Amino acid sequence: MTLSTFDLFSVGIGPSSSHTVGPMRAASAFASLLADAGQLPSVASVRVDLYGSLAATGRGHGTFGAVLLGLEGHRPEEILPETVEARRSAIAASGCVLLGGERRIPLREDDLVLHPLTVLPRHSNGLRFSAVAADGGVLASETYYSVGGGFVEREGDGGGGVADSGGGGGGAGGSDGAGGGRVGAVPLPFRTAAELLGHCAASGLSVADVMLRNEVVVSSCDEAEVHRRLLAIRDVMDECVATSLGRTGLLPGGLSVRRRAPEWRARLESADPLGAPEYWQEWVNLVALAVNEENASGGRVVTAPTNGAAGIVPAVLHYARHYLRPGEGGVAGAALGEDDVCVRFLLAAAAVGVLYKEQASISGAEVGCQGEVGSASSMAAAGLAEVMGGTPAQVENAAEIAMEHNLGLTCDPIGGLVQIPCIERNALAAAKAINAARMALWGDGSHHVSLDQVIATMRETGRDMNSKYKETSLGGLAVNVVEC
Ligand code: SF4
Repeated sequence: MTLSTFDLFSVGIGPSSSHTVGPMRAASAFASLLADAGQLPSVASVRVDLYGSLAATGRGHGTFGAVLLGLEGHRPEEILPETVEARRSAIAASGCVLLGGERRIPLREDDLVLHPLTVLPRHSNGLRFSAVAADGGVLASETYYSVGGGFVEREGDGGGGVADSGGGGGGAGGSDGAGGGRVGAVPLPFRTAAELLGHCAASGLSVADVMLRNEVVVSSCDEAEVHRRLLAIRDVMDECVATSLGRTGLLPGGLSVRRRAPEWRARLESADPLGAPEYWQEWVNLVALAVNEENASGGRVVTAPTNGAAGIVPAVLHYARHYLRPGEGGVAGAALGEDDVCVRFLLAAAAVGVLYKEQASISGAEVGCQGEVGSASSMAAAGLAEVMGGTPAQVENAAEIAMEHNLGLTCDPIGGLVQIPCIERNALAAAKAINAARMALWGDGSHHVSLDQVIATMRETGRDMNSKYKETSLGGLAVNVVEC
């Protein structure tokens, strides 16, 4: 697999990368297949079967609406939140979708067939689309898997291929099909942290530089273009926070969870008008909450590497931009300008994200929340250690510490909504990432447990984890807290 930084950081809509973004991409891909085969005019109806976790928590995670929009040809990285609302209302009122953007067929959310107790062999997030002609004959049928972080694989394409991440690693605009547009031979290939550190040692490059060398090949563009695209990702993160802080009231879904970020911002600005260092924790919490509240309401976020964990990287990046002390690198230490801090942070974080995607999983439905929040915390720790001037060994150590203390984290969202415990959990994991980076920078990079060992442990822990703790809302807080 040749992964791009823009696979790990792609623009999508909330609340879930695996249950909203991935299903929308799968449905859009199926509609494109029908259009390419010239079959749209013959389609009278479409049947959609959802399996496993998608069926169990799909309603709370926005899967059903995402599938309908995807069948209309919309893609998560392009659709605006206001279009989502407008099309959902129109579909609900008419009972019809515009298949592929042109063929009007009857289809409501109620027509989606749920199989929560059936898990397809390849992954617990399975979707099957069947296009049916007027005489009842099946024109086409495809099975897709939403494997976490918005990545989608199609049955028959083989495991491990990037069927579609939407990140556009092959150039602008995303990639449909099996890794379309990807250049296979990157100059410094790595699947493991040991291989990554080996490249750093042999070349004298930092973790961020290794990722950059590969990125220009994967994305078929020069370094300046990679920088530009990374700053655009940073800007979407900032816009997400700003949008969220402008909203008040309850989050959707019926849990009566109140948005806290706007109120906290007002309190913080009166307590800390000058951005004093002692308030760094409150600002980090605020950014994490703002992103995850926006995600929970179906807003536009950067998957980092998933939607449920989307607040961690922006929160730690906020810390890197504003709170590093002189001598700690970053902006305050004048070692890097703010844009360079953002670029190097995201590249190093993405390099660690590649390790999780290659060796384990970033899917809560596959390995529990350790794969989502744990991976994001580990990636953020690596990014922070990089811009603090850490050596590659210290960056690897930071990533290792952050994941080591997220091992075993279960996924048990109340009501199947990405709200409790997800929103607060992002703030806590951001603090853990900052502490991990600081601990690593006070060491010399040598440590007992390697990042590869902790990733293997996460994978095996996820494999052993009872399925009720893997994005099914059948265990943990989801059953011990009564919804009202
Ligand atoms: S508990 Fe973790 S893995 Fe589960 S939905 Fe929330 S953020 Fe995602």
